[in-house]
Amino acid sequence: MIIDGKELAARLKSGMARRVAQLRELYGRVPMLAVVLVGENPASRSYIRGKIKAAGEVGIESLLVELPVTVSESELLANIERLNADERVDGVLVQLPLPDHICENRVIASIALEKDVDGFHPLNVARLWRGEECMLPCTPKGIMRMLADNNIEADGKRAVVVGRSNIVGLPMAKSLLNANATVTIAHSHTKNLGDITREADILVVAAGCAHLIGADMIKEGAVVIDVGINHDAVTGKLCGDVDFEACRNRASYISPVPGGVGPMTICMLMDNTIECFERRRK
Ligand code: NAD
Repeated sequence: MIIDGKELAARLKSGMARRVAQLRELYGRVPMLAVVLVGENPASRSYIRGKIKAAGEVGIESLLVELPVTVSESELLANIERLNADERVDGVLVQLPLPDHICENRVIASIALEKDVDGFHPLNVARLWRGEECMLPCTPKGIMRMLADNNIEADGKRAVVVGRSNIVGLPMAKSLLNANATVTIAHSHTKNLGDITREADILVVAAGCAHLIGADMIKEGAVVIDVGINHDAVTGKLCGDVDFEACRNRASYISPVPGGVGPMTICMLMDNTIECFERRRK
């Protein structure tokens, strides 16, 4: 079975559009997402375009704040402070990566906790790891929805997450742990990666290495979720970390790239923006 993230995201977004219309009725306004872009990184620009487009589809207002690559850290922080204080703004997202002269951690920590739509604020991270209610980062949230939508139970399963970043790998592993899976985290220093990935009932790969996972590295019947976004060195086409064609007949469920995790990540950003709006109203 192919897990079609694009179709699921479209389905969820139409539900969100109905919810946003209700919010307009109830409160006389709709959620607003502020997106801060520093510099001209083409990948960042393309991600932001996708996010603003999705906001438009569900009726969320968006506000794009573009700053030059030379912006100082204090100027960036002042912009975030302004968005934190702006009553109309429900969610604040700073597109990563930031230029080297800016401390990403300081910037992330400056976002108001109640507007942290990415779920990267240190207090949100702490809440996730303490098992408390939190704003879950969009990629793991989207993957958990993909599993749920396909009735894939994590409880009691062996799960392996390849990658240990703050953005994907770590919150993914904790989400699976919260769902009672037995979780192993593999990373760039892991020896004999295949021995570990072959144990997985649920394998989530977020390494950013094209063709990292071949058919010989997955168990027959495994659920395989591919987070990677790469360009194939030969064809130049977008591809994930999993060799999709080789693995598709061995896996029970597999998510493609493009059309898998990517659209779900953006969809969950909309979900988190609505959640921020609703929590702020409570
Ligand atoms: P990152 O570079 O911060 O982390 C990559 C992780 O993979 C590291 O923990 C590293 O140890 C591990 N790794 C790297 N090479 C490895 C190897 N050969 N074997 C085992 N582990 C290895 O990246 P990230 O931000 O976590 O993103 C990972 C990938 O997912 C990238 O391709 C990124 O573009 C993509 N991504 C996709 C979405 C989406 O919505 N689809 C969202 C975020 C990131």
